[in-house]
Amino acid sequence: MLGSKEEPIEVYCFGTNKFRLKATIVEIFNEKLGKWQWYEYSKTVMPCPVCGRLMKVYYIPGTTWFACCSEECYKKYEVRLLADLDDFIDEMKNKILKKNAEYGDFRQYDVSSLRSHLIEEIREWLRSVGTVKEPLELIDVANLCYMIWSKLKGSVAHV
Ligand SMILES: [Zn+2]
Repeated sequence: MLGSKEEPIEVYCFGTNKFRLKATIVEIFNEKLGKWQWYEYSKTVMPCPVCGRLMKVYYIPGTTWFACCSEECYKKYEVRLLADLDDFIDEMKNKILKKNAEYGDFRQYDVSSLRSHLIEEIREWLRSVGTVKEPLELIDVANLCYMIWSKLKGSVAHV
C-alpha cells in the first residue's frame, strides 16, 4: 500500500473520468450535450466500505454516489452484492411458496387487495425497525411488491 495511513486516498465520484477539478468547482464533460458543465463539489473523509482504507471522497451534493478506494474494492463489493442478492432471491422464493401454500396462488388476488396487504407489511416492517425481525419483515414488503409488480405486468410468475 502506498501512502501513509494518515493520507486518505482521493476518490472522485463524478460519474465520469472526464472532469477538471478547480478550487471550488469541478468541470464535467456532458457526453450527451457534448460540452463542459460546472458544478460545486463537496469533500468528505470516510473509510472504504470493503477494506476500511481511509478515502477523501469528492462528490456533487444532491447526486447519488458510491465510493470504494480501488477498482479491486468496487469489484469485491459487486461480488458481495450479488451474493446478497442470491440470498435475497432465495428468501423471496421461499416466501412466495409459503404464501401460495397458505392462501392459494397469489395471482388469484386482485391488485387492490395486494396493495392493502403491502401497506400492512410496511407497517409491520416499521414496527420491526432495528430489531432482529427487520430483515424478514423487509422480505415481506419486497415479496408483496413483487406480487403487485407481477400482477401489473400481467406476466406468469416462475418461482
Ligand atoms: Zn478498499
